[in-house]
Amino acid sequence: MAHTLDSVEMDKIVSLCKRRGFIFQSSEIYGGLASTYDYGPLGIELKRNIRDAWWHRFIQDRDDMVGLESAILMHPQVWVASGHTGTFSDPLVECKTCHHRFRADHIDSKACPDCGGEITEARNFNLMLKTFLGPVEDTASQVYLRPETAQGIFVNFQNVVTATRKRPPFGIGQIGKSFRNEITTGNFTFRTREFEQMEIEFFVKPGTDEEWHQKWIEDFMQWFIDLGVREEKLRLRPHAKEELSHYSKATSDIEYSFAWGWGELMGIANRTDFDLKAHAEHSGVRLDYFDDEIEEPEQKHYVPYVVEPALGVDRALLVLLFDAYDEEALEGGDTRVVLHFHPSVAPIKVAVLPLSRNERLVPKAREVYDLVRSRFVTQYDDAQSIGRRYRRQDEIGTPLAVTVDFQTLDEDNAVTIRDRDTMEQIRVPIAELVNTLEQKLKR
Ligand code: ATP
Repeated sequence: MAHTLDSVEMDKIVSLCKRRGFIFQSSEIYGGLASTYDYGPLGIELKRNIRDAWWHRFIQDRDDMVGLESAILMHPQVWVASGHTGTFSDPLVECKTCHHRFRADHIDSKACPDCGGEITEARNFNLMLKTFLGPVEDTASQVYLRPETAQGIFVNFQNVVTATRKRPPFGIGQIGKSFRNEITTGNFTFRTREFEQMEIEFFVKPGTDEEWHQKWIEDFMQWFIDLGVREEKLRLRPHAKEELSHYSKATSDIEYSFAWGWGELMGIANRTDFDLKAHAEHSGVRLDYFDDEIEEPEQKHYVPYVVEPALGVDRALLVLLFDAYDEEALEGGDTRVVLHFHPSVAPIKVAVLPLSRNERLVPKAREVYDLVRSRFVTQYDDAQSIGRRYRRQDEIGTPLAVTVDFQTLDEDNAVTIRDRDTMEQIRVPIAELVNTLEQKLKR
């Protein structure tokens, strides 16, 4: 679908999200809590659709993948082994005048971006959020809220292999909340301190890791395109050597072109055998794979290499919103705001609308609504003019609207289906409605 708008400003997205119930500021009635957000009725449908699409594509639809849901709280030694206690930090600088804090690598000059004041030397600031387990708040009871879901997968490697008999190449995926005490947040939900991740740790035989890294990059690029994201808005950015995380041999980010520039959508890293080896060393438990099909005895045991495609659910949702948003000039000087969501992620699939709130039309429309609702997430709306109601559905990205009119009652027992993107309408007998909707939503 060709867009009219090439790029959209953040304030339009923020205001649409609040107005229509996608995303709200958290604790708003108390003045809000900095960079934390709540998903409203439409936002949560969209979010669930993204999670489901990911889960289906990368877990259920592949025979080399299994799922997991590990706890947010983990043994503190996990973070010592993974390197997070020692190195999961960002360089923090502070303005000596206004005391605002910034990430040193996020600002260009030696002066404070807010007031121009002098800034301090950078010091490392650990990004893990701490809490306490049990009634005593001392260092012995201190635990962390996980900063990534990945470690829950690594520490369960042996459990999953034993339980499932999977052999490399195979992967474990999970979706869940992560927390980072980010120094600079901002750009709405782009960088927050509480967020949700969808991560895969894919275990392969050393030597095949680079090939698998490439495959995963291609699989994810294709997935975003299949979800309707415009190809020209996506790019791949390999990390320079000095930018690589402590565990990584190579990382490439998939980036999206936002109104403010290119921003990371996800990272795909070659984590080598760093994590499994580190956990084996710290726990004393062997975390290798025994391959009895390998002939050479000394090669039968090996520690798999890991390719990790890591994506934020909130980040994906923001990209889908930005990419779907469009404004079209209509005849008569009106503007139509439309979200061109792919049907698979659209929060509402079908709207059922009687032509007016007429006592004869409403019961028939309700009957059609019941029919459609049993198959698709559907909204019924009979308030205000039909034109206004089409606009409301366009603005939340509903792909199809079904209208019940007097011809339905008096002549043909048929309804019209209006397409969100083309605004074209076709007439379909009610008996064929569900099948036709299904065909149209399958693209
Ligand atoms: P950065 O260097 O920008 O702080 P990162 O490269 O360390 O982030 P990863 O650890 O690779 O990020 O995280 C994987 C994915 O999780 C990111 O690509 C993003 O989609 C999501 N993500 C990470 N941090 C945040 C955050 N603070 N808010 C929202 N999503 C996040």
